[in-house]
Amino acid sequence: MTTQASDMDTESITMFRDSASAFLDAVDQRQRVRALEAGGGGFDRDVWQQIADMGWLSILVPESLDGLGLGLAEVAAIAQECGRHLLPEPLVDAGVHPLALLCALPVSSARDELIKKLSAGHTVAGVAWQEKAGELEASNQLTRATSSHGQWVLEGQKRFVRPGLGADGWIVSCHLDAQPALVWVSADQAGVRLSAEQAVDGSLLCSVSFTQVEIASSQLLALGPTAQAALSRANEVARIIQSAELVGIAERALSLTRDYLCTRTQFGKPIGSFQALQHRMVDGLIQVELGAACLREGLAVVSSPDAGEQLWASTASRLKSRCAFAACEMTRMAIQLHGAIGTTNEYDIGLYFKRAMTLSSRWGNPASHRRRYAHIVGASRAAVPATTDQAEYTEFPPDARWDDMPEVEFRRMVRAFFAKHYPAERRYRPYRQTWAESKDWYMTLSRLGWLAPAWPKEHGGMGLPADKLIAYIEESEAWGVARPPDQGLVMVGPILMRFGTDEQRARFLPKILAGEQVWTQGYSEPNAGSDLAAVRTEAVIDGNEFVVNGQKTWTTWGMDGTHMFMLVRTDKTVKKQAGISFLLVDLKTPGVTVRPIQNLAAEREFCEVFFDNVRVPLANLVGELNQGWTVAKALLGFERLFTGSPKHSQHTLHQVEKLARQRGLLEDPVFLARLTELQLDTADLGAAYNGFAAIAKRGESIPASISMLKIWSTETYERLALLLMESADDYGGLRDHCLTDEIDLHVVAPLFNALGAKIFAGSNEIQRNILAKAVLDLPS
Ligand SMILES: Cc1cc2nc3c(=O)[nH]c(=O)nc-3n(C[C@H](O)[C@H](O)[C@H](O)COP(=O)(O)OP(=O)(O)OC[C@H]3O[C@@H](n4cnc5c(N)ncnc54)[C@H](O)[C@@H]3O)c2cc1C
Repeated sequence: MTTQASDMDTESITMFRDSASAFLDAVDQRQRVRALEAGGGGFDRDVWQQIADMGWLSILVPESLDGLGLGLAEVAAIAQECGRHLLPEPLVDAGVHPLALLCALPVSSARDELIKKLSAGHTVAGVAWQEKAGELEASNQLTRATSSHGQWVLEGQKRFVRPGLGADGWIVSCHLDAQPALVWVSADQAGVRLSAEQAVDGSLLCSVSFTQVEIASSQLLALGPTAQAALSRANEVARIIQSAELVGIAERALSLTRDYLCTRTQFGKPIGSFQALQHRMVDGLIQVELGAACLREGLAVVSSPDAGEQLWASTASRLKSRCAFAACEMTRMAIQLHGAIGTTNEYDIGLYFKRAMTLSSRWGNPASHRRRYAHIVGASRAAVPATTDQAEYTEFPPDARWDDMPEVEFRRMVRAFFAKHYPAERRYRPYRQTWAESKDWYMTLSRLGWLAPAWPKEHGGMGLPADKLIAYIEESEAWGVARPPDQGLVMVGPILMRFGTDEQRARFLPKILAGEQVWTQGYSEPNAGSDLAAVRTEAVIDGNEFVVNGQKTWTTWGMDGTHMFMLVRTDKTVKKQAGISFLLVDLKTPGVTVRPIQNLAAEREFCEVFFDNVRVPLANLVGELNQGWTVAKALLGFERLFTGSPKHSQHTLHQVEKLARQRGLLEDPVFLARLTELQLDTADLGAAYNGFAAIAKRGESIPASISMLKIWSTETYERLALLLMESADDYGGLRDHCLTDEIDLHVVAPLFNALGAKIFAGSNEIQRNILAKAVLDLPS
C-alpha cells in the first residue's frame, strides 16, 4: 500500500526510500527485534555502521562537513521505511536528533568534530535532555554544571535517554552558570552511571546520572539562548521524523492485517468478506491516509525558510498527535482482527503494536501534543479567518487566458469578484437555498459570464483549467457563497457534452446558462437507495416517445425544478445495471406530480415526484438505450473531490470558536481538549483534501481512495456540529438563528446538514464498502 505521502515523492526521496526498503528487506528485522530483546535490548553497532555507510546519518549534515546537505523529506522517507520494517536501531534518537542539534549550533571545532564522528558512525551518541515524564522542553532543573577549580563539574540526572547502553556518550542539556548549556559527556567518564529499563518493544530507555563529572572547556558545545533554541528545534525535528516512522508502522500493520483477512477462513469464507471487519479496516485506512497527508503537509510547512519557532512547534505537535494516534489505533485494531493469535508474542503483528506504543509515549504522547497545540494556536484563535486579500475589482475579461495567470492572482481576482457582486446578507446561509432565493445571483453570474467555470468556452463557459477551477470553487466556498440550484451546470451540462447529441446540446445548454431551466436529479426511488441499480421507474417505447411510470424520491430542489435527468428501467430481462437508460424530462409534461417533503429542519429541501403515463420524446434519451448506468457513473469526477471538501467543517469550527469566545468556554480544559482534537481533525482533513486536489490539478485521474475524504469530512462535520450544539447549552434546542448578547449563530443547522451529508452522494457505509473493495481489495 502506498499513501499520498509516498505518491508525491521527488526523485531523491524515491531513491532513499527504495534503497532503505532494499536494505531493510535483506534481513527480517522482526527476527532481529526478537533476538535483541532476548539478549537484553539495545542495538547492533555493525548495523549502525552500515546505516552510516549508506549515508542516512549524513542527510541533514551540510556538504562543508562531508554531509549530503539534503532536507527532512529524505530523512522522513527513510524513517517511514524503518517504521514499515521495524528496524530496531534508534535512527531518530541516535541519528536524527543529535545531528539535527549539532547542525543547529554555532560552528566550533568541538561541534564539527562530533558531527563528523557521528555521521560516519564511528561514534554513537544520544541527547540527554529530559528529566521528568511528559516534559516537552528541557527544564534542566536537576542537571547543573558549576565552576570548580577552573573547570566545571556536572551533577544531576536525565531520564528516558536513548541510546543508553552501547552509546559512546551524550550531548547533555544542563544549566551552566545559570544559563542553558549543552555539553558533551563521554560514557566512560568518571561519575557517569547508567541504569536501563526495557520498553515494550524490546528497546532500552535509560536513566543517566552525573556525580561530580568533570567537564573541560572543550566539552562545552553551546551556552545561553543558542543552546536552548537549537535543542528546541532538534526536538521538533525528532518529533516530525518519528511521526514518519509511525506512519510506516501504521501502513505495514494495515497491509499485514489486510493479507491476514484474505487468508484466514471462518464460517467457510475469508474473514475479510465480513462487512464489520471491512469497515473497521477502512477506518484504519482513513487514519493511515490522514497521517500520511498530515506528514506531507507538515514537511512542506517546516521546509519554508519563513517557518518560525511557533510554526515548527505547532506542526510537530500536529504531526505527532495524528501519526501516533493513527499507528496506535491501526495496530491495536490489527490485534483484534487477528483474533487470539494477535495477542501472542510469537506472532508478528504484536511487534507493530508494541513499537507504536513505545514511540507514541516518547517525545510527548498525542494528548500532551494536543495540549501544546492548543496552547500555541490559542493566541491566534481570536483572529477571524483571513479573506481580505483582494485585488481591485476589474470586469472579467471574457477572452482571458487563464493558463497564463498565476493562481494567487486568479484567487485574488475571484475574491474581488465575490466581494463586489455577492450579496453580503446571503453569505454562509444555514440551509440549502431555493431558486427564488438564489435566482438573482445565478442571473448575475450568467450576465457576467462567470456561471459555468468548468464548461469549455465554446459552450459559453469560462473554460478554466483544473487548477483554476478548483481555486474558483474553493474561493466561492471560503466566501460563503450559497450553492444555487446548479445541477444543470454541474451534472447535465458535462453529461451532454460527453454523451449528448449536437441537437441536445443546442436545445439544453443555452437555457441552462440563461437560467431558464432548473434541473433536478431523479435517481433514488423508494426501493432504490444505496442499491441504485434497482430502479423500477419504467420507460416503455411507444412510437416516437417513451411512456414513463413510477416514482422518484429525495429529489433535491424538486419544488423549483423545471426538468429532471433520470434513470429509468428500459429492459427488465437483463442484469439490472444493463437495463437502465438516462432520460431528460420536462417536469411540466402532463402526468408529473411533485410533492414536497420537509426535512428535519422543516425545510422543503427535497420532493417525491410521481410519473403517471408521462410521454417523453425519444430525442431526450442520452447515450444509447440501456447504457444509462455508464452515463450515470461518468458523473463521478470533480464531484468526488468536492463532496469531501473541508468547507463545512472549517466553517463550523469557526462557529464553535466564535461561540466559545462569546460564552467564555476557552477557559474550560475539557472543552478545550475537545476543541483541539477537532481543530486537528479539520486541519488534517484539509491536508488530505489538498493532496487529492493536487492530483486533480495535475490532470491525473483521482484514485479510488478519495472516498475516504467524504467519510472523514462529513463525520468531522458531524462531530463539530455536536460540539457546537453542546456548547450552546439551552440554545442547543432552538430551531432558528439565535441572536442574543451571548450568541449569534444558527446552532442546529450544521447537525441537520451533516446528517444528510453522511447519506447523500453515496452513504458513508457505501463509501466504506467501496474502499474495502477498490483500495483494500478485500474479498466478497
Ligand atoms: C439531503 C439529501 C438530498 C438528496 N438528494 C437527492 C437527489 O437530488 N436525487 C436523488 O436521486 N437522490 C437524492 N438523495 C438520496 C440519496 O442518494 C439516498 O438517500 C442514498 O443513496 C441512500 O439511500 P436510502 O436513503 O434509500 O438509504 P438505504 O439505501 O435504504 O440505506 C439505509 C441504511 O443502510 C445502509 N446501507 C445500505 N446498503 C448498505 C450496504 N450494502 N452496506 C452497508 N450499509 C448499507 C446505508 O448506508 C444507510 O445507513 C438525497 C438524500 C439526502 C439525504
